[in-house]
Amino acid sequence: MKNLLWLQGLSCSGNSQSFLCSEEPFISDFFEKVNLLWHPEISYDTDLMELLRNAFENKIKIDFLIIEGSITKDKRFHRIGKYSIKYTINKLKHKVDYIIAVGNCAVHGNYPALYSKNPDVTGVQYGLNGEKGLLPKKFKTKSGYPVINITGCPVHPEWITKTVLSLVYGFPLKLDSLNRPKELYMYLSHDGCIRNEYFEWKVESEEFGTKEGCLFYNLGCRGPLTHAPCNKILWNGKSSKTRAGMPCIGCTEFNFPLRENYFKTEKNMGIPEEVPLGVTKRAYIMVTGMAKTFKNERLVKKLEETD
Ligand code: SF4
Repeated sequence: MKNLLWLQGLSCSGNSQSFLCSEEPFISDFFEKVNLLWHPEISYDTDLMELLRNAFENKIKIDFLIIEGSITKDKRFHRIGKYSIKYTINKLKHKVDYIIAVGNCAVHGNYPALYSKNPDVTGVQYGLNGEKGLLPKKFKTKSGYPVINITGCPVHPEWITKTVLSLVYGFPLKLDSLNRPKELYMYLSHDGCIRNEYFEWKVESEEFGTKEGCLFYNLGCRGPLTHAPCNKILWNGKSSKTRAGMPCIGCTEFNFPLRENYFKTEKNMGIPEEVPLGVTKRAYIMVTGMAKTFKNERLVKKLEETD
């Protein structure tokens, strides 16, 4: 069985909490297919220092090294016994088959990088806005993959289990230009949103939490600009932000922590400053202008009032 080690840098543990709630597969079933060497939240009986010493001396093989949290050598955040996360990754990087950065902090540094204003705080292979991370951009592990990035804040548990199990069963992963698995990130958060009809007919939602209307025009929804399968692989198997009436805040994109207002659509003369991916502003203006002139009577009513 393949061995998996999960280490944390500067982290709120949000991705651990999400991962440990996996239902598809149940986390216990996942660990029947992959041998967990250590995880900070559940491995109370394992001596991590001894495990790491054995790994450093090649006495134990680590197939999957999962990193959660930003990378720093700051002594205040020595979370791995006497080693910093930076030192530990550097010691293991040529020994493991796969390094998977789980969550924005591990991928590009996220808020700890932004607010610490310390260039030493980064992700494993990237920094904020795609800049330099701990490992060089050309770095690859023994398997030939770069650090596999699973973006999100937090990430859905199935994005992690699917990625690991694909590799365990020998299915190659195609990665996008930010080294995210394409099978997950080729979709937009907009794909599968139950508000698509409102988007097409430009019926706007004016408040959060309602069942009707699209949240793109006023309430800051980033669904058409965000690579994420949130409306394909539903959260808790049931829902997503946009299904619950909250905008997609674009947390899977590298510019996520740099944007300021997550709940407002920035506009210029009534036109959103950013239009859906793949569409020119001119085409967007023409299509939405036309949609608006054909009022869809069914969509302007409350859903409960329609037949
Ligand atoms: S609410 Fe967001 S994701 Fe849903 S249709 Fe509108 S823009 Fe797309």
